[in-house]
Amino acid sequence: MSFKLLGLSEPLLKAISKKGYETPSPIQAKAIPPVLDGYDVLASAQTGTGKTAGFTLPMLHILSETKKEKFRPIRALVLTPTRELAAQVYANVREYSEFLNIRSAVIFGGVNQKPQAANIRKGVDVLVATPGRLLDLQSQGLLSLKRVEIFVLDEADRMLDMGFLRDIERVMKLMPDKRQNLMFSATFSKDIKKLAFNILKNPVQVEATPENTAVEAISQKVYRVAKGLKTGLVIKLISEGNWQQVLVFTRTKHGANKLTKKMISAGITAAAIHGNKSQGARTKALKGFKDGSIRVMVATDIAARGLDIPLLPHVINYEIPNISEDYVHRIGRTGRAGAKGEAISLVSADETVYLKAIQKLIGEKLPVEIIEGFEPDPNASTEPIKPGQGRNNRRGQSQNRKPKTDRKKADGNSSRSNNRNKSRSRNRNRRSNN
Ligand code: ADP
Ligand code: MG
Repeated sequence: MSFKLLGLSEPLLKAISKKGYETPSPIQAKAIPPVLDGYDVLASAQTGTGKTAGFTLPMLHILSETKKEKFRPIRALVLTPTRELAAQVYANVREYSEFLNIRSAVIFGGVNQKPQAANIRKGVDVLVATPGRLLDLQSQGLLSLKRVEIFVLDEADRMLDMGFLRDIERVMKLMPDKRQNLMFSATFSKDIKKLAFNILKNPVQVEATPENTAVEAISQKVYRVAKGLKTGLVIKLISEGNWQQVLVFTRTKHGANKLTKKMISAGITAAAIHGNKSQGARTKALKGFKDGSIRVMVATDIAARGLDIPLLPHVINYEIPNISEDYVHRIGRTGRAGAKGEAISLVSADETVYLKAIQKLIGEKLPVEIIEGFEPDPNASTEPIKPGQGRNNRRGQSQNRKPKTDRKKADGNSSRSNNRNKSRSRNRNRRSNN
């Protein structure tokens, strides 16, 4: 299979080869033809499988085929859940459209809206946006979605997790009824199917990998350890293994900050990345992590979602997630593009139930090891971590909740980011009753 056979135009093929891609990934091979044919498409494939190009390439192909008007209305809208992801998708749009007469822009919250609005006023064909900032600019009359022909919902599962359902519905009302809709998602839950039913018309459904399976190129391992010894163990693994690029997941923002401080004290360059960090701090951390000046990035699930960090050799779950699907997303950060990766989970007694749930989801038992000096605590309770102790603190959540008028600041921020776990649907209901 080649990109040429998929029917993409010469300028796109040129950009693809400049990017160094030789063959389409499975999800690209499956999604590109129906998108080019004008169908609504629902595509699911694991994180890191090239979904971005799966919608961007055919979208650009379609947009470039029609003659441009003097003023460029927004003809394609890509919605993404987080700022980082918006920036990444936009970077891809830019690269792939290098040899086309296509203008694009990106907007997200947390930064000054003026340059964004000025950019759009000049006329853009493709707009990549997070929902909050998009609705904000629209309500100020700074952009119109009335001419949108192609609507893409990227990382649809995470959109729902972050409580963006209502915003998505509002955005849909601002676009013409007659348009092409594309939905891309890493997982394929009941909620996703329901959303797809509302957004897509007679969709073609494509799927690249079996749902919820971990990639084989990743070697996975569990260290059973006492809760209080986890920090010491992480530091030991990273220093003794001389690991140079490690992504560490914690369950809470507070936990991420605390661990980052301990790492730095131990002489390991580290940075935390989560929803409470400013946009500048997050961009800086990610840049440092990519260029190797920061060895360890400590992240919460939401912050790490969709980050494109190629060839990441090590992922450590400082705490394992209580939502099993998150485990698959986390380890999807490693072993990308054919490179082998290692995913390590530190599991204390109170996480035993979550470990079992993860093993059930991925359909395999993970090998368990114990390291001398970092043994599990035989007296520790196996009661699962209480909701009050983690990001699922519902009381804390409502206290943190941003008032509605403050929506532009809320993109990818804690008030939305915390809507996880079993209380998900309750939260959603509450939002929609607001
Ligand atoms: P997803 O959205 O599925 O998580 P991305 O679109 O972020 O995945 O792509 C993951 C990585 O794979 C990126 O670094 C991207 O440049 C690379 N990639 C995408 N398509 C191809 C391809 N056909 N060949 C090689 N690498 C690719
Ligand atoms: Mg993606």
